[in-house]
This record gives sequence, structure tokens and C-alpha cells, in this order.
Amino acid sequence: MEIGADPDVFHPLQNHLLKNEITNVNDQELQNHIDKFLFGPRKIPNYSGGLGVLAGDTLKSFADLHFPAAAISILYREGYFSQIVDSHVGQIDQATHWSPHDTPTLYLLHEPDSPEKPLEIDIPFPNNNGTPSTIRAQVWMKLELNENLDYFVPEFLLDYDLESSPPLIKDAAQRLYNSKSPMLKAIQRRMLGSGVMPLMEALGLSARTIHLNEQHGVTATLNMILTELTEKLGPDYRQTMSDKDIMEAVSKVSQKVVYTIHTPVKAGHDRFTRDLYAEISQDTCQRMLNLLADDQDSPHEYNFTALAMRINRAVNAVSRLHRNVTRRQFPKYADKITAITNGVHHLTWISDQRAKIFDSHQILKNWRNDPGCFATEKLFNSESFRHDLSRAWQLDNQFLIEYINNMLIEHRNQMMETWIDPPNYLSHLIEEGRLEPGVFTIGFARRFSTYKRADLIFDDIPYLASILVKGGWRVNFVFAGKAHPQDEPGQSVLKLILDNQQELYTLSKGLAKLIFIPNYDMKMAKMMVAGVHAWLNSPKRPLEASGTSGMKAAINGVPNVSVMDGWWEEGYHDGATGWKFGYEGPVEEANLSEDADSLYYAEDSHAFYKLLPSMLQSFYEHPETYMDKALKNLQLNLPIFNTHRMAAEYILKYKHDLDQNLAERIEYFSSLYQSDINGN
Ligand SMILES: *Cc1c(COP(=O)(O)O)cnc(C)c1O
Repeated sequence: MEIGADPDVFHPLQNHLLKNEITNVNDQELQNHIDKFLFGPRKIPNYSGGLGVLAGDTLKSFADLHFPAAAISILYREGYFSQIVDSHVGQIDQATHWSPHDTPTLYLLHEPDSPEKPLEIDIPFPNNNGTPSTIRAQVWMKLELNENLDYFVPEFLLDYDLESSPPLIKDAAQRLYNSKSPMLKAIQRRMLGSGVMPLMEALGLSARTIHLNEQHGVTATLNMILTELTEKLGPDYRQTMSDKDIMEAVSKVSQKVVYTIHTPVKAGHDRFTRDLYAEISQDTCQRMLNLLADDQDSPHEYNFTALAMRINRAVNAVSRLHRNVTRRQFPKYADKITAITNGVHHLTWISDQRAKIFDSHQILKNWRNDPGCFATEKLFNSESFRHDLSRAWQLDNQFLIEYINNMLIEHRNQMMETWIDPPNYLSHLIEEGRLEPGVFTIGFARRFSTYKRADLIFDDIPYLASILVKGGWRVNFVFAGKAHPQDEPGQSVLKLILDNQQELYTLSKGLAKLIFIPNYDMKMAKMMVAGVHAWLNSPKRPLEASGTSGMKAAINGVPNVSVMDGWWEEGYHDGATGWKFGYEGPVEEANLSEDADSLYYAEDSHAFYKLLPSMLQSFYEHPETYMDKALKNLQLNLPIFNTHRMAAEYILKYKHDLDQNLAERIEYFSSLYQSDINGN
């Protein structure tokens, strides 16, 4: 459903043009292209959070590794949404305005026989009256170019916003995860799933493995089953097919599918009522769903996660802990569920300042191609590296603080024009409201889902403030993130962060400054993960299947302070790389609940308060031991939690024949780590 790969965080072509000073040429048409790459829009707002960003990072690593892959998703005319934040109202969502035509590396495909016409493909969209109907989509292609500009992986984005599209389809083509009605949601999922096979056929693509990244596009497998049935039984299969025929087709199709599940949280698993599906599908489809998508807890619904669990040759979870939880949630499929722990694309997420340092140190000379090269003690023992890294960190911190200070003033100045009350209390304090670089800064930014518990550490503000006052410690808390427009509890958590600002500031006597940065996106993420001194992750264990923002911090050498959930169980290394807090006992049924009264605030927040003084002491009084943690993150976590290693593990799992060059690189990267060894 989503791919996040904004060019403003990774843009190898722009880098190439700038580095080689290819900015002015004589040919006007070429100049227009160059200008587009240099100055064109930097955002492709086709993602909502970690799932999409991970998809983008994966494609970039596929390109770096020269692995032949293509991705299919949807183009959303209004993106996900743009977030405005008002201190009284909280989050306000608006359409994101963007122009695919002006966006570099994004191209509208055209008819090969009449190149002036955009290519339109027909997508079967049957309904209940038995007459197969079709809808149409245009296709955009985005190139994920690699760093060396010698390979790319294409993304194909289905664009259903055509004049000829029926109103419901047009509506569904505007915003990612529009769930205003269950119908709209179901239609949006089908626009993805049903588009996969027709798109591949139109472009002449064939695939040995279809990888379902989450179950959103799982209806693609139903199309594949129908194709099998037609082949076996002929065009009249609908009259003649038996359940046994269907199940035989299922096992054939399963051989082509690998499925990755990304969350144990129920909201991430699509269910639709049978009544709804009766309206938007034919008998054949319902027969298949009756056989394959039954929901044991809810007999009048279809469960699309159950469907995806069934139709594949392998299921993947995104960390070791998540694997164990997924096996528990789907015991019937436990045997085929294994783990490939997520990663992040290191070339995207390492800040420019850090990258410069890495470029300048001989032992890291190959770091751009090989994130495994950080796994050396030498790094840890090099005084000059330690010094340079610390300097780069300071600069990244300065950028972030400067950005925030400008933002605070801008919000105040714009108040009269926009009638938006500045989201930050500090906007109202002229001089003392400014943040200072070098003050211990904790970052938190991700989607505002209740299970992520953004407000956990503000559970007891008087106590938190008293800790800071007692030690005389100054702390900045920098928060960002969007709540889904239909997620009211999520929006309340966001509002609570705003509401806490003044109390925390006052009770801590101005030592603690809590900032909210509106409209979180990849660019903001990159600035934050490199600019803070610790990255906070406070979900209810084990609901954060992996988490990737903490990896982005880690590969910049920024320690995490995190609940033992998702990737952190693997990245914690007995305290060498950061801190852990909160519940880490066995996973019981109650731990899987997201009910408001089972989010365990009191226990986990106090575990954080207990930890805080030692973190602050380490930062302010023993900067050398703090730097040790930074270096250990590079040495121990960067070689593991990157998408080169992750992609290599996937490629091995796909079991494709690879040419020798690729096979060697895959073997090397997968040797850096084996995600699926037995955890507890
Ligand atoms: C990395 C990233 C995320 C994922 O954050 P988690 O902490 O893993 O949930 C979400 N949004 C953006 C913009 C990101 O860059």
C-alpha cells in the first residue's frame, strides 16, 4: 500500500550532478531535466510510516545489490495527509498537494504504439451482478537508482484518478489508508491487489516470487488462483470447479508467494464483513474467500491476514521476538514462520556530517558499499575517529536545535495570518523559550498509535520534573508524528503531549523543554535521529514488531533508550549500545491487547524514571563513556540493522538462482547476521 522513498533524504542522481558540476548545459531540453533533478519537488507522499519507509529502503538495497526486483503500489493524489497542529485543537489533517509530473525520477508510462497517450491498463473489478466489470489505471514509474548509478529497481504506482473512473474509485485514489467507510477501505485494498497481475502482464514482467509486503495486496493471489483454474478447467471453470480444484490451484499459487507480516496489532490486519464482500465480488470470489479467509473469532467476517497466512510458501516476521509472537498468534502456520529482522538503508539514514567522517577514515573506505566494515575493534580504539564523530554529532545537534528555534519563532509570527495557535508553549516565551545546543536531547518520532505510548514518560510529570530539579539537569524532549485521521485515541495522545508542555516546563523550573514538531516526514526523521543524544522507544511490549527509527539512530551512533521490544532485543547488547526499561517478562494473552486499560503505563514509566539519572550523569559527567556507547552502536548494530543484510536474507529465502557475482555478495551480507536463530 505504501512506499516511502523521498528524494530529499537519498538522491544519488542529484549528488552526481552536483559533485561533477553538471548544472549548466547548452541544450535547453537537457537543462530542463537537470533543473528538475536539482530543484524539483523532494517529496513523494506515498507513505504513512515505518512500513512504507522500509519498503523504500529495501528497494534501494536491492538496487545496490543488483538484484532484479520490481515493486507495485498505488499513487495517492493527496498523499497520506499533511499535519497542522494547533495547541487547542490538536492535529488537523489536510490533503498534501503535490504534482507527480514535476517530481524527479517519477515518470508516467505511455502507450508504446502511440507515445502521445498515457498507458492505461484494464483491471478486472467484478461485482455481484455477474457481469465482469473493469476499471482502468495509469502507471507511474519511479526509479530507485543506486548510489553508483549503474542499476535501478523500478516502482510501479497505479494511478486510478482518471476522468473515466467511477466516483468511488476516484475517491479511493486520493488518500492512503482512507478508512472513512469499510467499503472505501476494501476497495482501496482491491485496487492494489487486483492491479498486480494486469500490470505485470501489460509491462511483460514475470516474477518467480511475488512478495506480499503485509496483507494489503493479498487479493492478487485470488487472481492468480483464477488463472490457474482457467488453465486447468477452461473458460467455463466457474460452473465446473470443485473445492478440490480450488485447493489444488491454491497450492500451486502458494509456491510463488512469500509473505511478510509486520505487526501483531489487530488494526493492522484487514477484516471485512461477508455482506460487504457480497456487494463487491462475484460468487467465485466469495467461494474462494469462504474456503480461505474464514475468521475463527468472527464468523461473519473475512480475515485477510488469515488469507495471506495461507497462500504462500514461506511467512516472515520482522524480528525474533515478533516471530515468536506470530507463531503464537497463528499456531497453525508456526512451522513456516521464520524471522528476518528489519534493517534501514544506511546510505539514506546516515547524516551528511557523519558520512563525511566515515569517508575520511581509511578503515572505513568501503563503507558505502559495505556496512559490514564497521564491525571492527579498531574503530573503537581510534582516538581521531572518536573525536571526529563527536564533532559531527555536535554539528547535527546544532542543526536540529536551530531548526526548532526557527520553527518556534515562525509559528509565533504566523499566528495572526493563519489563526493557528502555535503547537508549542515555548513559542510564547521570547528569549527563555529558545533551545540550546549541547543540552541533553531525547527524540521520539513515529506514528501516534496508542500502543506506541508516546506519552508514557509523561505519566507522572511532577516526579519527572523533580528528578531533573534534584540533579540540576537540563533536558530537551523532541517529539513528532502523525495520528491516523480516524484514530481518535491516537490523536488524544498527541494532544496530551501538547498539554503537558507548560506543566513540565514550570515544574522543572525551566530545565525541561518539550517540543512537538508538526508534519513528521522522512526528512524530519533524518534530522532528528542524527541530532538527538538518545532515541526513545516506549511501546507496549510485544506490540512493536520491529521498529526501524531506532535503527536509524543507532547507525548514526545514537544510543537507544527502549522497552525490550522488536529489534531492540537484538540490538541492546547488554547495555553496550543503550538502555532498556520496562516489562520484559513472558508474552501472555493480556500483553497482546491494545485496550486502553491494559497499556501498563505506571510500571513502565517508573522504570524509565529510575533509569533517567544514570543516563543524564553519563551524558553530562562522563562524556567518554557516553561516546563508548556511540561507537559500540556503529561497531555492533550498523553491520546488522541495515537493509543490505536484510535484503540478502530475503534473497536467500526466495531461493532464486543468482549469478556468481551477486551470489557472493549475498552470501557475504547474510553472513553478517542470522536473524532466525532461536531466540526465547
Ligand atoms: C523510520 C520512520 C518511521 C518508523 O518509525 P518506528 O519508530 O519504527 O515506528 C516512521 N515514519 C517515518 C517518516 C520514518 O522515517
